[in-house]
Amino acid sequence: MKIICIGRNYSDHAEELGNAVPEEPLFFLKPDSAILPKRHAFYIPEWTDCVHYEVELIVKINRLGKAVAHKYANRYYAEVGLGIDFTARDIQTVLKSDGHPWEKSKAFDNSAIVSEFFIALSELGGDVQNLNFKLFLNDELVQSTTTSRMIHSVDELIVYVSKFMTIKTGDLIFTGTPAGVGAVVAGDVLTGLLEEKQMFSVKIK
Ligand code: MG
Repeated sequence: MKIICIGRNYSDHAEELGNAVPEEPLFFLKPDSAILPKRHAFYIPEWTDCVHYEVELIVKINRLGKAVAHKYANRYYAEVGLGIDFTARDIQTVLKSDGHPWEKSKAFDNSAIVSEFFIALSELGGDVQNLNFKLFLNDELVQSTTTSRMIHSVDELIVYVSKFMTIKTGDLIFTGTPAGVGAVVAGDVLTGLLEEKQMFSVKIK
């Protein structure tokens, strides 16, 4: 399986990093080796001084698709989860300014928190563009948004990505993060909520 991550899909986050809001979706991949094993702590790698959390709604792909038409895009998912796209921001900043790929800063081991469970969209009202999610850093609410604020909807993302690469059952789409990203330090705890349900709680070491 692969993890497809969408960049800059909430304008408030693009602005906080000084990035232009893209007209077309921006995506990159994380390998399956990037998934933090369930109930494990996240250890800050020794090669970075600045790991940022980015909380994101995850859409789980449930069938094989290639060049999916917009009117059929909603048939390709039925469950959603919540995750963190960990980013070594110091490394990414250098890669970006050099015009290099981002993988070193985005696809490293344990850089993807995936919630222990996924929830049927039908249990959450059925509209993927009407879901609230938030992230607490220790006791502080640091990120909070609704999926209605996405620049490119989930269906648009499926259409766009599947034009370039086949999506397969079990693939995950990290649909982008809202404003409020920031660095973690050892001792922190990140807790993510989707529609008030706790989806993960991860210790930072
Ligand atoms: Mg992200």
